[in-house]
Amino acid sequence: MSTQSPDCFQCHHFYVTWDAAAPRGCRHFGFKTTLLPAQVVLSSSGQPCQAFEPRPMPQKPAAPPRGQRGDR
Ligand code: SF4
Repeated sequence: MSTQSPDCFQCHHFYVTWDAAAPRGCRHFGFKTTLLPAQVVLSSSGQPCQAFEPRPMPQKPAAPPRGQRGDR
């Protein structure tokens, strides 16, 4: 078990809210905060977050089929 809090910015569950008073959210635990969610988890439970899931890597867009690239 890791003793370090994970990086919420790299986590699948992290999101930026529309709430200016609490701009960072965790969908897994269902809360919004001004801090990083993992900091809240650590301070409230005394344990680093165990629910981290890596954010999927963005896929490269597929090349358009020949003749549809805008070139002549
Ligand atoms: S699950 Fe843990 S690491 Fe992921 S956003 Fe929530 S608090 Fe951060």
